[in-house]
Amino acid sequence: MRLAVFLLLGAIASGAGREVAITIDDLPRGGDGGPRDLSAVKSMTERLLKPFHDEKIPLIGFVNEGRKVDFRPDGLRQILDLWLDAGADLGNHSYSHLNINNVPLEQYTADITKGEPILRAALAARGKKIEFYRHPFLFTGPTAQIKQQMQEFLDKHGYRVAPVTLDDGDYEYAALYTKPEFKDRVRKEYVPYMESIVAAFENMSIQVVGQEIPQILLIHTSQMNADLMPDLLAMFRRRGYTFVSLDHALADPAYRLHDDYVGRGGFSWIHRWAVAKGIKTTPEPDPPSWVQKAYAAASQ
Ligand SMILES: [Zn+2]
Repeated sequence: MRLAVFLLLGAIASGAGREVAITIDDLPRGGDGGPRDLSAVKSMTERLLKPFHDEKIPLIGFVNEGRKVDFRPDGLRQILDLWLDAGADLGNHSYSHLNINNVPLEQYTADITKGEPILRAALAARGKKIEFYRHPFLFTGPTAQIKQQMQEFLDKHGYRVAPVTLDDGDYEYAALYTKPEFKDRVRKEYVPYMESIVAAFENMSIQVVGQEIPQILLIHTSQMNADLMPDLLAMFRRRGYTFVSLDHALADPAYRLHDDYVGRGGFSWIHRWAVAKGIKTTPEPDPPSWVQKAYAAASQ
């Protein structure tokens, strides 16, 4: 009995029993600077999805139907079908990734509706409906009134909000990965950076919620994530994580905590809950300065 207790405590200390839901944004292809023709996006997508399909790992992808590609609508449907074939769910990430801080609410909500038709048809063919909405930039409204009216729109249209707890700068690394001069360094440093993010939010969960929670990871469609996904998944497994669906993660009571944040920022829901509880959190690590500088130069 004493041995069993000892083993149990050891398992908790090493993080056994941790859970994470993986969510991937900006389908069909984010802004990683890689090729955007149908065959390139198809092969990137197939590589990205392979471990999820082969190992039956739950996954949800968030679609921007208006992403700049030259293969809409039929090609986009083919890409979405690849996701569904791999066992992934799909949600709406708006048509054109508008920034609610810069546009009127009516324009923003119209862009949500505009992002539905191809997604809805792809899901309907599998007997599914659109369930989740992911806010572009994780921006939920710059004023209390806009935030409330946006939430009312989502409620009225049957959407569940897909929050994020593990928020990171994967897109900065991804934009450098497609450039030969940075590729090797990104390959070496990306997963260790992601591990530092995961560790920071594990600690922050304890500080804000009182315990670790099922985490929700946000990353983006990119060649980098396609190539390095096995390493990223291995990092989570090393830390004692199993992979769960977004719906499973959201069943945890932590996700009923209040989000009292109002403003122009976009960040982890753990920071939002901290605002409601009046807890001051230490920010998670930024990508190192070489990544930030090279990313800023590359995005000009
Ligand atoms: Zn996005």
